Amino acid sequence: MKKFFIHTFGCQMNVYDSERVAVMLAEKGWEYTENAEEADLIIINSCSVREKPLLKLYSCAGRYLPLKKSKGLRIFIMGCVAQQLGGEIIEKIPYIDGVFGPGAEDMIPDVAEKGVFPFVSNKADSLEREEIFPARSKGSFFSPYSSYVTVMHGCNNFCSYCIVPFVRGREISRKSAVILDEIKKLVDSGIQEVTLLGQNVNSYKDPENGKTFAALLHEISEKTALKRIRFITSHPKDFGEELAQAFRDIPNLMPYLHLPAQSGNNRILKLMNRRYTVENYIEKMELARKYCPDIALSSDFIVGFPGETREEFEDTMKLVDLVGYDSIFAFNYSPRPFTKAEKMTDDVPEEEKFARLNELLDLEKRRLKEVRGRYLGRTVNVLVESESPKGDTFMGRSEHNLIVHIAGSIASDKGKIVPVKVVEILENTMRGEKVVSQPE
Ligand code: SF4
Repeated sequence: MKKFFIHTFGCQMNVYDSERVAVMLAEKGWEYTENAEEADLIIINSCSVREKPLLKLYSCAGRYLPLKKSKGLRIFIMGCVAQQLGGEIIEKIPYIDGVFGPGAEDMIPDVAEKGVFPFVSNKADSLEREEIFPARSKGSFFSPYSSYVTVMHGCNNFCSYCIVPFVRGREISRKSAVILDEIKKLVDSGIQEVTLLGQNVNSYKDPENGKTFAALLHEISEKTALKRIRFITSHPKDFGEELAQAFRDIPNLMPYLHLPAQSGNNRILKLMNRRYTVENYIEKMELARKYCPDIALSSDFIVGFPGETREEFEDTMKLVDLVGYDSIFAFNYSPRPFTKAEKMTDDVPEEEKFARLNELLDLEKRRLKEVRGRYLGRTVNVLVESESPKGDTFMGRSEHNLIVHIAGSIASDKGKIVPVKVVEILENTMRGEKVVSQPE
């Protein structure tokens, strides 16, 4: 049987796309391998959002070149860089056999079988809605217990630093009936937790009946047997009362909200074209806490945006200190092609960007200890997913989306949601003890 290997860069959207391609290949008789050396087909799912995407792609493809030479396997590129550069990738990396932009990945199984090489397609915009979102006929591929489901594709917001609207196109929502059907199939295959994906889920609108994202969450909760629902990402400008109330009213919506602030300074937010102020953002955080006081909040931040002064960066530090996030993801600014910010002068020196980033991460490390301290001694419910890296116990995610290593857990706990008493808060994870109920 022919084998395939997938190397995925970037966000959960890419993980979802890799999974869809894996399911499609498996349906055509291909076998998945975690070892690139065994593969007949290597697929690199590329990302152009974070730093040095092209360099990463070149070095990743170069790593597989010796395998291509010795085994004659095929190497395909999919994802955002494929969309951004199309056939240019073949000019730059001539040993690549196929380039598939977002929305064109569905051609991969057919091209792998009977393609003419090199093959290039990056015409996502010419595809119809259901071609962009073909339903999955099987369950999840990479994890038997949790999965991603895309609810919408693309973005209309044009934040001045972001390449996504250029490579993923404009917003398109999936029909809620199709989303429900996909989730029901996942539940039948053993999935307990689904994370709904969209660049800006607040803009979700059912193309058939105009249903909102909050209404979709209610429907999923009421009409499927799914145990846990999560979603990412919300844009702060669109986060409102209806979605905040969903955290109170939907019992299986997990208390975790990722609301990317990006900066704590109003002038920088304006330059970023984020269309909210720091004051608006803080109000949204308060709104989430009003309906779900114990909610875990997380955010993204960019430091060293063009023109950001020391004082403006310190406003970001103040915001992080004030909110008390459960987690943050922070990055140094670097320009992306096509974007407005690319035309601004990237004037914060690299060493200053790194110094600011480290300062912000140090602050967050200190704040985390206090914020996550609220879990100490508490019993949290953990979906047990896999063995811990050391192999001495099992681990999973709490309702608040934190990884918990569970003393006393056994292999048959995998796939179950078990109560765990938290005994230690570590830097990135927590340790706990499985709570065993006493016979009456
Ligand atoms: S909301 Fe802004 S940062 Fe997010 S994907 Fe859209 S343009 Fe990019």
